[in-house]
Amino acid sequence: ATFASLGVEPFLCKALQAMAIRKPTGVQAACIPQILAGADCIGSAQTGSGKTIAFALPIMQALSRDPYGVFGVVLTPTRELAFQIGEQFRVLGASMNLHSTVIVGGMDMMHQAIELRKQPHIIIATPGRLVDLMKSNQGEFSLGRVKFLVLDEADRLLTSTFAPELSYIIDQLPSTRQTLLFTATLTEPVLALQNKPQTPGKPKVF
Ligand code: AMP
Repeated sequence: ATFASLGVEPFLCKALQAMAIRKPTGVQAACIPQILAGADCIGSAQTGSGKTIAFALPIMQALSRDPYGVFGVVLTPTRELAFQIGEQFRVLGASMNLHSTVIVGGMDMMHQAIELRKQPHIIIATPGRLVDLMKSNQGEFSLGRVKFLVLDEADRLLTSTFAPELSYIIDQLPSTRQTLLFTATLTEPVLALQNKPQTPGKPKVF
C-alpha cells in the first residue's frame, strides 16, 4: 500500500515525503482508511510502530476542511510522549499552518493558559495538567467543537491513576466526536470503552 492508496491527500503525502516516510506501517495501513471513513478505531500498537502518524494524518485531513476551534485532543500518559507527538504534528502540519500546543505538568502554567486561549487546532496533553487548566480557565477556551479524541497508550491511561481526570475531560467533549485508541495491550477498560454510548461507530480491533 501507499499513503495515497489509503486515501491520504497529496498535500500530506508531500509532507511525508519531506520526512522521508514512504511506506505505511501496519498500524497506519489498518487505521488510516477507517479513521478517514469516520469510524472510531482501536489500534494495537507500541511506540515506534508509527501510531502517531496513523492518527495525525486523518485528523489533519479532516481539519483542512473545517479549521475552526479546538479540533482534536490527544491524551498521553507522559510528558516525553506528549512532546514526541507534538513534534510530529508540528513537522507534518507546517505546510497547513496547523496550530498545536503541548500541555504537560512541570511547565509554566500561565504560558499554557495563554496558548489555550488562542484555541489551537490540536491539544496534546497529559490529563492532569489539562484538567487543572480547564478548571482554572472556565469559559476561556472551549472543547465544544472537538471532533477527535485520541487516547495514546490507552492501556496506561485507562487505569485508576488517570480515571477521574479522563472522565472530567471526556464529559466536556461533544458526543459526536471520533474516538481513537492506541494501546500496546487490550486491557478490560480499553475494551469496555468501546461500548460507551459516547463513542459512535464500532471500533475495529485488530
Ligand atoms: P511512533 O510510533 O508514532 O512513536 O513513531 C515512531 C517513529 O517512526 C517516528 O519518528 C516517525 O517519524 C517514524 N515513522 C512513522 N511512520 C513511519 C513510516 N511509515 N515509515 C518510516 N518511519 C515512520
